[in-house]
Amino acid sequence: MGRRLSGKIVIATHNAGKLREMRELLAPYRIEAVSAGDLCLAEPEETGADFVANALIKARAAAQASGLPAFADDSGLCVDALGGAPGVYSARWAGDTKDFYAAMDRIRREVEATGASQPWRAHFVSALAVCWPDGHVETVEGRVDGDLVFPPRGTAGFGYDPCFLPDGHDRTFGEMTTEEKHGIPVDGSRALSHRARAFQELAKACLVPD
Ligand code: IMP
Repeated sequence: MGRRLSGKIVIATHNAGKLREMRELLAPYRIEAVSAGDLCLAEPEETGADFVANALIKARAAAQASGLPAFADDSGLCVDALGGAPGVYSARWAGDTKDFYAAMDRIRREVEATGASQPWRAHFVSALAVCWPDGHVETVEGRVDGDLVFPPRGTAGFGYDPCFLPDGHDRTFGEMTTEEKHGIPVDGSRALSHRARAFQELAKACLVPD
């Protein structure tokens, strides 16, 4: 096990959907989580080339600004027919108005333009980084594969959830409750969502159940 995470930490996100999911995933551990938004921390620019690099930028900035261990996620949807796009630009494809229906429609139009045959394969990735004020870091990654479905289905979740059908399921993430989407098993087998899978790795590395 790497360094143990406990006590008060900062969740380095300003995204309400992610904050809710991270709080749920941290619930079984002895951790008091405050958000970067609660502490009015500035949002650093995400200039990394991949998910892990961006998660580290956010965790480092929050740890330095708060003096607390900080926990950050960087995630996104990678579409095979688009060479992995939108990837690290997933949030930006929704624009300033955060219109994910427009972003999903852009994916549909761009994949259609490639002439790719169905099913259109995609995966979500979640990189998690924990950074302590002394600079120590732990990073992990989780991934879930599936098909894109259009029109998008369901109103649960956030972001691209309604257009993503995870392998082995007949409902999109947008049609699942958060419990189903994370799919955290009681017997220690594999979780479902990219974020829950990354959490399983993080738990092995530095979380101790209450
Ligand atoms: P960032 O990690 O803050 O750069 O944002 C990643 C973006 O990817 C989010 O704003 C969502 O659009 C998308 N995304 C990441 N995880 C999920 C998920 O679990 N469901 C749906 N969309 C997601």
